[in-house]
Amino acid sequence: MKLKGSCHCGGVRFEVESSHPCPFNRCYCSVCRKTAGGGGYAINLAANNGTLKVSGGEHITIYHAIINGKPSPAERHFCKLCASALWVYDPRWPELIHPFASAIDSDLPIPPEKTHLMIDSKAGWVEIDEKPNDKCFSQYPRESIADWHERLNLTSAGS
Ligand SMILES: [Zn+2]
Repeated sequence: MKLKGSCHCGGVRFEVESSHPCPFNRCYCSVCRKTAGGGGYAINLAANNGTLKVSGGEHITIYHAIINGKPSPAERHFCKLCASALWVYDPRWPELIHPFASAIDSDLPIPPEKTHLMIDSKAGWVEIDEKPNDKCFSQYPRESIADWHERLNLTSAGS
């Protein structure tokens, strides 16, 4: 499906095709929590970087988090006018971008189960709203966003 997204001030708009648009993946890491996580977690989607179209790209700034003393190669794209987190791009997986569900304006499907990841980094005040069939991981799960959609037969048609 086509995902349309924007920052809060409207300076940046983007669209991108995604076969894996279910917002099931809640990341409790400190970077997501501090830069994008209103609930103590951020929700990462996966989309096809080759289809990304951006307007207002001049308003985008990139943050490289320092992880274990070194800048992470992952690029966290955000709007420098309003600070909205937009997506993560990592040159180690150049075919993908990971838009934050919070930046998406299109109607996303409701996930039948969720994955809670990076729980070792969770803040103490954050309670995990764990439903039946949800899965919890202290770090990253082995199951990718694409694998999750395949397992639940939720891969979206088109690109
Ligand atoms: Zn903005």
